[in-house]
Amino acid sequence: ISLQKVRLSDILNRGLEMTTHLVEEKNMMIESIVDEEVYVLGDTNRLIQIMMNLLANAINYSPENTTVRVNIFKNQKYGIFQIRDEGIGICESEINRIFERFYRVDRARSRNSGGTGLGLAIVKHLVEAHHGLIEVESKVGEGTVFNVYIPIAKS
Ligand code: ATP
Ligand code: MG
Repeated sequence: ISLQKVRLSDILNRGLEMTTHLVEEKNMMIESIVDEEVYVLGDTNRLIQIMMNLLANAINYSPENTTVRVNIFKNQKYGIFQIRDEGIGICESEINRIFERFYRVDRARSRNSGGTGLGLAIVKHLVEAHHGLIEVESKVGEGTVFNVYIPIAKS
């Protein structure tokens, strides 16, 4: 990957464009809040791939008529994007395994949603290639939050 100065809100907009069809099919809403312009050191296409995978999961693993919320903000070191859904959630005993290749939680498998279980393994790999971090928090029946931290580009 090649790292350049990239504006996170541009990544978000591309991710939203690429998931419009999924959102409309399920009557869902996406709300996005960009607190401030954040520039990170990233590879545009790879960051879009990260954003897309997380948005697709948020949509796939949520019931119809719920909202996915995307937030962009920063701290001293990282540009951060947060993707929060009101979906089925992931239980504590499985959350440590979701970044493994081919791992899918039973409920997802039985939904027959056609995934392969590679999405999050790729996301984690790409985040690490950016020297970034990814965090997840979830509650079964309430929803899931992913935070992705990508190093800020110095101006
Ligand atoms: P694909 O390779 O098409 O992305 P996948 O979505 O099943 O397939 P991952 O994206 O790697 O694979 O996710 C792994 C598993 O983690 C999913 O099968 C699902 O069980 C669980 N998961 C991921 N994101 C969420 C989410 N937002 N809410 C609930 N469960 C999730
Ligand atoms: Mg997926």
